[in-house]
Amino acid sequence: MANPKHRHSKSRRDKRRTQKQKLTAPNLTACPQCQEVKQPHHACMSCGTYNGREIVTVQQI
Ligand SMILES: [Zn+2]
Repeated sequence: MANPKHRHSKSRRDKRRTQKQKLTAPNLTACPQCQEVKQPHHACMSCGTYNGREIVTVQQI
């Protein structure tokens, strides 16, 4: 089994961890069609439109 030959310093460990992506809240905008909140550059989850056209049909529950 491959094993590390030398232990990395705390500074080196922490430098590696600074590059780790943190969880952030997604950007939200209002849908121009139904004013529902949606993510920018995504089709609207409630009315299924993108760029003024309906591109996905939303299933009614
Ligand atoms: Zn919408």
